[in-house]
Amino acid sequence: AYVVTDNCIRCKYMDCVEVCPVDCFYEGENMLVINPNECIDCGVCEPECPAEAIVPDTEPGLEKWVELNAKYSAEW
Ligand code: SF4
Repeated sequence: AYVVTDNCIRCKYMDCVEVCPVDCFYEGENMLVINPNECIDCGVCEPECPAEAIVPDTEPGLEKWVELNAKYSAEW
């Protein structure tokens, strides 16, 4: 799955939300998050993010963001 990271904090451009084919973006506390169970790894959102906040969860050092995306997207 893809995850939203700190560059998104207080950004919320929402370009990603519009292109996601499965609508798996949700509102976190001060940023958007991706539901890891719904994301189909299409990668369409990554280049659309003006803040470059969206990355694949396979990149190293993302544990905190993987956790936050899962946590906040589960609240919906
Ligand atoms: Fe949605 Fe595709 Fe981005 Fe996953 S990778 S959040 S399915 S646009």
